[in-house]
Amino acid sequence: MQVCNQMVVTIDYTLTDNDGNVVDSSQGNEPMAYLHGANNIIPGLETALEGKNVGDEFSVTVNPEEGYGERDESRQQVVPKEMFGEEEIQLGAQFHAASPDGNHIVVTVIEVDGDEITVDGNHPLAGEVLNFEVKVVEIRDATQEELDHGHVHGAEGHDH
Ligand code: ZN
Repeated sequence: MQVCNQMVVTIDYTLTDNDGNVVDSSQGNEPMAYLHGANNIIPGLETALEGKNVGDEFSVTVNPEEGYGERDESRQQVVPKEMFGEEEIQLGAQFHAASPDGNHIVVTVIEVDGDEITVDGNHPLAGEVLNFEVKVVEIRDATQEELDHGHVHGAEGHDH
């Protein structure tokens, strides 16, 4: 069985940036399961997994345009502190917000200057070259319900 559309694929992975720092890893956690062909994962990684078999191990370098996109400075904005209500604002704190086009985004506080808070709506990995070490752990057919929902159910997947 090979990785192709409508398959649930389980992988172990380690993600490092170009300085060799580990950014994210399934080591010590559960492997990650995703639905292939459903944009569950970044395009550069999904493309690299196409046609792979269980047990395959490989490295792939993903550029920003196939990853989390380029950084867009216009996604940084200064907002008044009172917009956060009573919440304590700290550098690095993340909040859920709606972008101007209505998408759900996560913004990160990058500067606190008195009553002015600067938030950044870029993905933390936007503009980064991503180096993945990947091992394919399991491949199975998706259920009809998973295909309808566009994501994986079960232990490593969506819980609802
Ligand atoms: Zn679901």
